[in-house]
Amino acid sequence: MVASDIQIAQEAHLDSILAVAKKVGLEENDLELYGKHKAKLTYDALTRIENQNEAGRLILVTAINPTAAGEGKSTVTVGLGDALTKSGRKTMIALREPSLGPVFGLKGGATGGGYAQVIPMEDINLHFTGDFHAITSANNLLSAMLDNHMQQGNLKQIDGRRIVWKRVVDLNDRALRQVVIGLGGPFQGVPRQDGFDITVASEIMAIICLARDIDDLKTRIGNIVVGYDYARQPITAHDIGAEGALTVLLKDALKPNLVQTLEHTPALVHGGPFANIAHGCNSIMATKSALHLADYTVTEAGFGADLGAEKFLDIKVPQLGKVPDAIVIVATIRALKLHGGANKNNLKEEDVLALEKGFANLAKHIETIEQYGLPFVVAINRFVGDSDAELQALEAWCTANSVSYSLTEVWEKGGNGGLDLADKVVNAIDEHTGTYQPIYNQEQSIEEKVTAIVRKIYGGKSVEFTSKARKQLNEFKQHGWDKYPVCMAKTQYSLSDDATLVGRPEGFVITIREFVPKMGAGFIVALTGDVMTMPGLPKHPAALDMDVDNTGRISGLF
Ligand code: ADP
Repeated sequence: MVASDIQIAQEAHLDSILAVAKKVGLEENDLELYGKHKAKLTYDALTRIENQNEAGRLILVTAINPTAAGEGKSTVTVGLGDALTKSGRKTMIALREPSLGPVFGLKGGATGGGYAQVIPMEDINLHFTGDFHAITSANNLLSAMLDNHMQQGNLKQIDGRRIVWKRVVDLNDRALRQVVIGLGGPFQGVPRQDGFDITVASEIMAIICLARDIDDLKTRIGNIVVGYDYARQPITAHDIGAEGALTVLLKDALKPNLVQTLEHTPALVHGGPFANIAHGCNSIMATKSALHLADYTVTEAGFGADLGAEKFLDIKVPQLGKVPDAIVIVATIRALKLHGGANKNNLKEEDVLALEKGFANLAKHIETIEQYGLPFVVAINRFVGDSDAELQALEAWCTANSVSYSLTEVWEKGGNGGLDLADKVVNAIDEHTGTYQPIYNQEQSIEEKVTAIVRKIYGGKSVEFTSKARKQLNEFKQHGWDKYPVCMAKTQYSLSDDATLVGRPEGFVITIREFVPKMGAGFIVALTGDVMTMPGLPKHPAALDMDVDNTGRISGLF
């Protein structure tokens, strides 16, 4: 029987975090220890390494449009990191922190899988170093201060019907999507409609991941638009005096967390914004530290290249000041079959015809990365059930199209299963001569930016803006918000805004329903379709299979 992720993680030997830190030149003084196997990097250490060391190479792992189970981006990220280490290259991994929503819901955690995991996986998947708790608290402190402002005379004339700031909890809990607060009379607050998002959809999460230091964090928090006054002018967190207290709550959450892989490669696991309503990448602080500590940093961005990689390149890169040196596009046989029309319940059955039809989805993501002028390698994340005929068909397609690829077996074999991928990625970096080409420039209008993304990244025909969205664009111009990058909130399952259009749909029109200004994060969210900011639990949530024994040993955490 194949061991589960948690069994493999529980049986693993963990090195002391001090020994792990030493591999990239960090001393005990550089760390704040959270037990023996987790630590945060101090601000002094962060400043020192950035000033002393040159930045190394950056490898971004992305994927084709995924199935609901994920394509194995985190798994490949970890496995590639271990393979680079194994082949003698000083490497760090920079991943996002998991949210409790998917952990207890459908998808599971986000610490990789099989023999390519970051550990201690139970800690990382559950409370870890408390970052999500701090982010939840800071988010809700802002809500409490906002409601208190209205209760205590409402000096800023905040219109309770135009508040856009919601409360958050880091669980999938659909019953909290719409709530009414302040009921019970004059002493219980001002009644209004409110709602909860999941913590990873909070703007505070996006801010933590984009902030450069404490001052930047505070400025960004001050810029958050919480709602509008009766004259329809924006009210910010600064207007109600909240940025100082929120930053106090977040001062430790901003420090990157150091852990290790099963093979003891140092990994920074920090921050975890959604890749639809937010930009879906781990923190700038962590990525930057890894870049200055190691020769190779492997990181990932959420969902497929149409969402995560686009946002990494168009939102994170301008803040990070570093373009990836190479991209890894993860593809699985099962997802390609889904894109070729196979039934989602039969993805384990051999179906070369559907697979070949599904190549169109991979082809589009390859074109996307080529448009940016970046070198790439396709990582075929091998599942035990993939048939030889299917694997041969995919390899033949790659060869026929001169696509660099690697059959990757890190889930089954750890770093050893990714040595070929590691060599091919390093070769791609060394041999690359092209120049990076952003798909839009920051001076373009919001309409132009959205259109560039829809045409160049999704392969769509055009964009329609609802009358509400058009009206908002005019208002944004008046507020001076029209030069920010755009963060597209779109389904991850399709290149279009219709989750059922698999493969490579063409000729489709994307409708922008509404915009949401995220002035703290520094981007404008464009909402397409129905975007979920508070997921619900499925019929059989992962929570039903979990338990812990009297010694504290957890089971069923997938
Ligand atoms: P993503 O980062 O793309 O969302 P993950 O790396 O988190 O995907 O993987 C999702 C799930 O799939 C995990 O439970 C992982 O163990 C499993 N998985 C990934 N790759 C493989 C593989 N090659 N074989 C079997 N299971 C895999």
